Amino acid sequence: MLPINRQQQIVDILNQEGIVYISDLSRKFNVSEMTIHRDLAHLETEGYLRKVRGGAVPVPQPPSLRSQGAAPESCFMCQMTPRSQTQMTLNLTEGGVKRACCPHCGLHGMQMMSGKIVSALVTDFLRGNIINAQSAIYLVEPDITVCCTPTVLAFQRKDDAARFQAGFGGQLMGMIATLDHLSRAMQINPAKHQHHGK
Ligand SMILES: [Zn+2]
Ligand SMILES: [Zn+2]
Repeated sequence: MLPINRQQQIVDILNQEGIVYISDLSRKFNVSEMTIHRDLAHLETEGYLRKVRGGAVPVPQPPSLRSQGAAPESCFMCQMTPRSQTQMTLNLTEGGVKRACCPHCGLHGMQMMSGKIVSALVTDFLRGNIINAQSAIYLVEPDITVCCTPTVLAFQRKDDAARFQAGFGGQLMGMIATLDHLSRAMQINPAKHQHHGK
């Protein structure tokens, strides 16, 4: 397994369980504790978690907002500064990361660069934790505009997404259906593709 895949799974496990232990992860992935230690150190540098004795816990805020003083990286699609509750990151096959302001831009970027992306992470709109883009549930075109339009919001839990949908409308979809929907919406009415509700 590639380190990036293992690290992605560690982030997923951490978000599900709230804490991870180096000894458990080393058994689960069948690698040395030193390897897990390095994975956690890397993920901590990237801002995905905080190391504690023997393991790691989630960080309440995703990377860009925590690094105060440093200029936050702008969205690679629309140049907007990513917001903590909506930002999305794409990990590229040749290494490096693209940051998007919200799933609208991030999923478009994924389509444009298909084949060049190893994995993608989105931020849960309600809880602010970082989740795998493939397993997230998306609320597409709710009645409110958050960041770009058509607005797309990501959730880890179906019940959170459903509650949000009950209040704000829109459709719930998996990642593939959301990608489909976005590309169709763009073809029918390109003018509808707007950033930040301008
Ligand atoms: Zn954007
Ligand atoms: Zn956006």
